[in-house]
Amino acid sequence: MGRGRLLALSVAVSAVTAAARASDVRVVAGFDYSPKKRIERIAPDHFAVHIGRGFCNWFMFRIEGAKGRTVTIDLSNAPIRKWKTLNPVYSYVEDINALDSFAVERPRAPRKPRRAANGPLIPDTSGQKWHFVEDVKVEGTTLRLRQRFEADRAWLAMKYPHTCEYNERFLDRLAKLRSSSVKVMEIGRSKEGRPIRLVKIGRGGEDRKPCVLLYAREHPTEHDTSWVAEGAIRFLLSNTREARAIRERFTFLVIPILDPDGAVRSRYRNIIATFASGGETPESLVIAAWLKKWVDEGKRLDLAISLHNVESNETRHLLCAIMAPDRIGHCRAFNSRLMQAMKGYHLNRNVWDKGYRLFRLAGFAGEYYGALPMYYEVNSQAPSRHLTLAELREMGGRFVRGAAKYFASRSGLRTFDEVTKLRTERNLRWRKYAHLFEGEDALYSEAWCRRMPEVVRLHREKGYDVSWMTGKRKDISRSPGTRMGGWK
Ligand SMILES: [Zn+2]
Repeated sequence: MGRGRLLALSVAVSAVTAAARASDVRVVAGFDYSPKKRIERIAPDHFAVHIGRGFCNWFMFRIEGAKGRTVTIDLSNAPIRKWKTLNPVYSYVEDINALDSFAVERPRAPRKPRRAANGPLIPDTSGQKWHFVEDVKVEGTTLRLRQRFEADRAWLAMKYPHTCEYNERFLDRLAKLRSSSVKVMEIGRSKEGRPIRLVKIGRGGEDRKPCVLLYAREHPTEHDTSWVAEGAIRFLLSNTREARAIRERFTFLVIPILDPDGAVRSRYRNIIATFASGGETPESLVIAAWLKKWVDEGKRLDLAISLHNVESNETRHLLCAIMAPDRIGHCRAFNSRLMQAMKGYHLNRNVWDKGYRLFRLAGFAGEYYGALPMYYEVNSQAPSRHLTLAELREMGGRFVRGAAKYFASRSGLRTFDEVTKLRTERNLRWRKYAHLFEGEDALYSEAWCRRMPEVVRLHREKGYDVSWMTGKRKDISRSPGTRMGGWK
């Protein structure tokens, strides 16, 4: 190394040390819900965060000592194609797990949306405690954020963060409601011992009425989705005539966080493709067992909606990601009803159609219990316009309305009858083969019970005795919920 370069290096090093001394602004990452990142100080109020390759669809930082300072953060090596319309959110709330930190009020005189430096329209966020960083610039593969902070401690996150602890508090409050229409249940524990909770809303008749499963966070870093699920619960429990009628006529099962461990640890993939025997996890086993019990008790499962979110620039506020090719007519009919219910949001009517199907919860529910599996991508940071927290929650209410409208339509009745047919076939198989699967888990036993006719045929062809395989068990095929001809 030449003398000149050595000198330049030592000057650079002392500049960095001086900068660090002159400033007490800090950017912190690597705590719960905050993926670890390499953070470099470039100047007293200027930082570079190395994003890098791989699945980096979530980040959150704590900014400390920032009061009265304008802080610049370069998100470098970022997936800029997706992020160029992203405006991260910041807040000064003390506790990101507190219900109050995400309370919203309607602004008294809402201002018109404003255009951020990178293009999207930014709504009035004066009624909520989270605000968009509007000064965002794209430079090569770097997203440069500049924000003046008014308090010493601030949170800075890719999108509105939704934590397991917040969810626990929200559900605890629901559990205290003295309402016969809502039941908050723990269906099992995650690998690390966190509760997986489900909210059942409806006024009984689960064997006769259409039942909708709506769940969020099978990609646990997709925080937008839990706000939508929470919004569905809020809408269902609201005191409007429409909500009361929906509670009377349907059953809704809502899981706001499917994968709590993955959420805390910001893992993009954790349990998503584990709803198949051989790939099971403690989570997929308890969730599948719960659904099997539900169906064995004669209760219905007509629709399974899996909620996802894109990062920003990939699509509008809503898009159907995957449709089941063997039930495409039903999927299309449902999707068009849902899109009608989403009036006012920016919609993408194309379908992506990629990703695992059968190994996911919705795929499992469809394959074995007849539910129509639907996968949606929501987006609170669409390139055209970003959503307030209230608007994001409101999407959940629209999912509920869309599903209700669908099952009241002719196409919905056809889906209902198809589900009845599929569950009757499944129950007939179980009537015949249940004795072979005593004590086996739901993932294993559903898959093998389904294959038994083929297994029996193969045995017969080879001349083996099959009588022990086809012993008669208790009749669950005539349980309620197998009647054809609609549900009304
Ligand atoms: Zn996803």
